[in-house]
Amino acid sequence: MAARVRALVLVGVVAIVPALLAPRAAAQGDGEKPALLDPDTRKYELDVLKPVFDKYYEAGSGYYEGSWRGEALWCFERAIELIPEAGGLRRFTGLLRDFDNPIWKRRKWKSPKAFVEAGFKKKKEQYDQAYATALLKLGAKYAKKPGDPILAKAAHERFLRALELVGGPYDLDAEGRLVAGKAGTIPADVSKRMVVDDLVLINGKRWLRDSMLRSLKSLDSVHEARDDRILVRTVTSEKQAADLLALLKLAYPQYEKQLGERATPRPLGLFVFPDTSSYQEWCKSSDHADRTLSAGFATSKEGFAVTFAQARLEPIALHEVAHLWHFDVYASEMPSWYAEGTAEFFGNSAAMRYAEGTLETGLKPTRATLAASLSDGRLRVPLGELLSGDANVRINAKDGSAEHFYREAWALYWFLSTTKDVRFAGRFADWENFGLGSRWSRDAQKQSGAQLFDQLFAPVRAELEAAFTAWAADPQ
Ligand SMILES: [Zn+2]
Repeated sequence: MAARVRALVLVGVVAIVPALLAPRAAAQGDGEKPALLDPDTRKYELDVLKPVFDKYYEAGSGYYEGSWRGEALWCFERAIELIPEAGGLRRFTGLLRDFDNPIWKRRKWKSPKAFVEAGFKKKKEQYDQAYATALLKLGAKYAKKPGDPILAKAAHERFLRALELVGGPYDLDAEGRLVAGKAGTIPADVSKRMVVDDLVLINGKRWLRDSMLRSLKSLDSVHEARDDRILVRTVTSEKQAADLLALLKLAYPQYEKQLGERATPRPLGLFVFPDTSSYQEWCKSSDHADRTLSAGFATSKEGFAVTFAQARLEPIALHEVAHLWHFDVYASEMPSWYAEGTAEFFGNSAAMRYAEGTLETGLKPTRATLAASLSDGRLRVPLGELLSGDANVRINAKDGSAEHFYREAWALYWFLSTTKDVRFAGRFADWENFGLGSRWSRDAQKQSGAQLFDQLFAPVRAELEAAFTAWAADPQ
C-alpha cells in the first residue's frame, strides 16, 4: 500500500537540515496555532527574550560579515523564532535563504572549516541553552496562574520548545520535575502531565514524541534500533527492532540501485505494531481508515512504513519500505500497478531470499510463482483492469482478487522493465520516465498515468497483452 502526502519544497534547505535531522524534534503541535498572548504578557516575554535574541542576532551578523552563510542563516532563523515581530530581519533572512538570488552569487561564500565549525557548535549550544532557560522562566510564570487557558497553553508550548532545544533523553529529578539539561527544570505538576502526554519511553529512556508517536497517544513505550540512515521502531521488543534494522541495512543498497538515491536527510522509517488490532486502531484514529485491511502501508508525511507483527513480516516490511523509498526519491504518485509492482520486486515472498545474514531481492518470477494468477492461459486480472485498477480498492472489496493484482503487478513490472522487445521496451521507458518526473498527484495519476500508457501503447496494445500473458505463463 502507498499513501503519499507531498512534502513542502523548502528553499534554504541547508539551514533547515539540522531541524529535520533532529529525531524527536518539532514537538509544538503541528497545525495548531500558538497561544496568542495579551499585549502586556507579550511585552514581558519580549523583555525576557530580547537578550537571547541579541546573542543569535549578533552572532549571525558576525558570520554574515565573515561570509559564513549556513551559520549566519541558522542564527538569524533562531532570532526570528524568538521575536517574529522583527520584520526587517525576517525579510533579510528570506533574501539570504534565496541562494539562487543573483545578488548573493556575487558574494563569495566560504565553506565550513574546522575552526569555524567548532566555534559555531559551541555558540549553538550556549545560545540554545540561554533560550531554553528563558523559555522555562516564561513557562513557569504562566503556569503559576491557574484558570487561564491561554497562559496554560503558552506555558506548555514554552516548556516543550525548551525540551526540544536541549534535546533528550530527559530525566526526572527527586521532586518529580523534568530536567531540561542545564537550562533548568519544569514544575512538578506540569512535568507529571507532560510525561504522560508529550513524552514516550524509547528503549527505556524518556524522549519527546515526534509526529508519528504523537498520533499514538495510547503507546507509552516503544523499542528502537537505528543507524544514521534507518530508524526502526517496534512495540514488541528491542530484538525485533534490531533484527529489522539488520534486514533494512542489507536492503538499503538494493533499493538505491533499483529505485535511485533518496533525496531526504530524514531516516528511512519503519514502525511495527504488535498486532492487527492496534494497527487498525491507529489507522482509524489517524486518517488512514482505508488502510485497515492492508498488511501495512507507507506514509510520506510521517516518513514511516507502517505494519504489524505477523507471519512473513520480513517481505511485508521490504514491500512497504520500498514505497517509502520511492516517495523519498520521486515527486510523482505512480499508477497503482506500477507502485505495487516495484514494491513487490523487493517484498514478494518469491522475489526475496533472506538467510544467514544475506539478502537477495529482485528475484525473477517463475512459472510456479505466477501460476495461481493464470486460468486457462488467461490472466485472472485482465491487463486493462491491471493498468487502470487500484490495489487498495481490491483489498477493500474482499473478493480475493487483490492477491492476483499484486502478483500480476509484480510480473508486469518485471516484464516491461526487462523486455528486449522493441515494441514494448522503448514505450515503457518513455512512460516510466515521464511518469516519475511528472509530479502526478494521487488523484491525477489514476487518469493521466493510465491514459498516457494507453496512448503510448495504443499501436501494440493487443500484442502487449498477448506477449505479457505468454511470458507470465512461462517467464523466460
Ligand atoms: Zn503496497
